[in-house]
Amino acid sequence: MPQVNGRFVPDMKSPRTPDNEEPAAERACDFRPVDKGFTEEMALAEAERCMDCKKPFCVEGCPVNINIPKFIEQIREKNYGGALDTIREESMLPAICGRVCPQENQCEGKCIRGKKSEPVAIGQLERFVGDQPELASKPAMKPKNGKKVAVVGSGPSGITCAGELARNGFDVTVFEAFFTGGGVLVYGIPEFRLPKAVVKREIDGLEEMGVKFEYNSVVGNIATAEELFDEGFDALYIATGAGLPKFLNVPGENLPNVFFANEYLTRVNLMKANKFPEYDTPTKHGKNVVVFGGGNVAMDAVRTAKRLGAERAIIAYRRTEDEMPARRAELHHAKAEGVEVMPLVSPLEFIAGEDGTVCAVKVQKMELGEPDESGRRRPVPIEGAIEEIPCDVAISAIGTNANPFASKIGGKMELNKWGYIIADEETGQTTDPRIWAGGDIVTGAATVILAMGAGKKAAASITKSLLGE
Ligand code: FAD
Ligand code: SF4
Repeated sequence: MPQVNGRFVPDMKSPRTPDNEEPAAERACDFRPVDKGFTEEMALAEAERCMDCKKPFCVEGCPVNINIPKFIEQIREKNYGGALDTIREESMLPAICGRVCPQENQCEGKCIRGKKSEPVAIGQLERFVGDQPELASKPAMKPKNGKKVAVVGSGPSGITCAGELARNGFDVTVFEAFFTGGGVLVYGIPEFRLPKAVVKREIDGLEEMGVKFEYNSVVGNIATAEELFDEGFDALYIATGAGLPKFLNVPGENLPNVFFANEYLTRVNLMKANKFPEYDTPTKHGKNVVVFGGGNVAMDAVRTAKRLGAERAIIAYRRTEDEMPARRAELHHAKAEGVEVMPLVSPLEFIAGEDGTVCAVKVQKMELGEPDESGRRRPVPIEGAIEEIPCDVAISAIGTNANPFASKIGGKMELNKWGYIIADEETGQTTDPRIWAGGDIVTGAATVILAMGAGKKAAASITKSLLGE
């Protein structure tokens, strides 16, 4: 490690270490991970680029304020276990966040090296140590305190809260509607971006800590909040997500082979429709696929369609590429894999062919007008500019709404007019003092790291409330 007077001297000449990607043409044919992650040599070279800033803006950019310069220094010292412990002080899921966080808008977006050249590849370094969980210290477990907590939903928010509570000595049961744990991490984000084995490792870790998982258990159906309290639970953490699809509200939306992205992705990711008939769930393998949307969900859907054999796979978005909310890496990967980006279009109508299934979509061409309340320029229709795009599969990925089961769970907690649970921003406590909530069911569709952060805050608040600590 280069040093002057005992102080580390960063490598100011090296460019950012490129991602370790599989060749685009090969990876687009199957579900293998697109990015193989840094080797040790790559991680060490990248860690040398960090300037160990006195005022590390990267930490401010991280939603959970991980001590980034400290863990990068530990990588430079080859103290990978220590680096993992540093990250785990704030984030339970480094192998997952390293892969899926929108780093360009968070830590890397604030990295001082990014002002003059390229930012340090913080996400890749996080993933590098996150993928070596065997090196981390065993979490200190407090003695059992005799209190029981039910966590509803096993997405990143639920599992983070469950892990923190188990460490604090609580008896924790996670109720999950699906037959497996992980929420969007397993049913939404495809294997080529986030291998299921990485998520399973986290769930297995929780089970080793004594957390119980009750699968195929929809709270609101199997039991209400009051019934769970009657069974002896002292508190509830609700993290049911926001998976209800938003409708496009255009004619033909109900035609066969017009999908909502979450359904399309769940069929493939969870039910393995790509391996039909080996697995029971079929899906349409379209040759001409159009996906409406510009976020991560749209990217995952279009790249999945490509892997199912689409010859033409289009992302159709009502603004331009610059305004797309997807992670930049996903857009870059999608384009390298042959996905076509069609900016400034909005769907008007899905058209049925002779067999009654979708054969085309009529789109309205748009242009950008004045900025709207989000600060982005508003798309405005260009009069008379209408086009027809042939397609045999169309997928809508324009966003989601609150999971409607929140209202069936009961208790005295209040929902807002859109069906999201009202909870205190700092503690996650709802208007029912026995119930906490967090993640997408409180904020609306957001990010893994924010959902995880909410679970952590709620666990601290539940601990304080039930134990007075
Ligand atoms: P979820 O992950 O939605 O988990 C909720 C869980 O609750 C589910 O398992 C559900 O089955 C269960 N559940 C619901 N109702 C009940 C009930 N009544 N009883 C029991 N269980 C119930 N974010 C990023 O940061 N980076 C990305 O790259 C990214 N890509 C994404 C790609 C896709 C396709 C999608 C859909 C989202 C993506 N996101 C991404 C967003 C991110 O995944 C979510 O913000 C995050 O998963 C929210 O976590 P959560 O724990 O609140 O809810
Ligand atoms: Fe290192 Fe960038 Fe953070 Fe500075 S801002 S400490 S260079 S990662």
